[in-house]
Amino acid sequence: MQSVIVLCGKPGAGKGTRLNEFLKETDKKYKVLSVGNLLREARKQNTELGKKAAKFMDKGLLVPDNIINAIVIDGMKKSKEPILSDGYPRTIGQAQAMIDAGINPIIIDCEVDDEVVIQRAKNRLVCDCGETYTTDSFKPPIIEGICDKCGKHLHRRPDDNPEVVKQRLDVYRSQTEPILEFMQEHNVEVHTISNGDSDSETAKKQFADIMNS
Ligand code: ADP
Repeated sequence: MQSVIVLCGKPGAGKGTRLNEFLKETDKKYKVLSVGNLLREARKQNTELGKKAAKFMDKGLLVPDNIINAIVIDGMKKSKEPILSDGYPRTIGQAQAMIDAGINPIIIDCEVDDEVVIQRAKNRLVCDCGETYTTDSFKPPIIEGICDKCGKHLHRRPDDNPEVVKQRLDVYRSQTEPILEFMQEHNVEVHTISNGDSDSETAKKQFADIMNS
């Protein structure tokens, strides 16, 4: 089985940013698994999965484990390339499903304060093609409101409004954070990097060092 690297952290911890940055600079091939993107795509296509997931996503809640495990585990086991997983597992039930499937991941935990998360959600703009931008100077699009990559109009994620972000942070604390201890109890390597706005350069290097070790 291929190796699996799991990115963990609060919503808006910058998992996707670190991951994309690393992918631009490496020659190695990875399969990137973002359950969030997968679910957003299913919603766009209006599939059964998309319709079910929407009810949870818009409230800032997690989609139930049985639905998520069914779309993830098999693909992980069959992948021909190492996997970079952004946002799976997010519950003890999902972590247990991974362990039961014989997958022994490495975890990179991105740490940030709640205030940073709330600010980043306010500043975030996304494109349907998967690119993400900010309204501040961190990563603005070249032309305001337009995706550099595909030219489509940028928009805000519905779950980035402050009330929903608060809910997502609560969900993170009650359901996702406990997986770090759970994984350590199962002898999984957990690396923690500080990923606040002023830590960007150090975090980028730490991330690459862990990936290349
Ligand atoms: P963020 O990390 O900023 O919360 P994501 O794009 O990873 O954003 O996830 C968006 C939403 O998709 C989550 O709030 C949740 O409803 C759903 N989701 C994503 N990953 C999972 C998962 N592993 N288990 C259950 N629901 C998930």
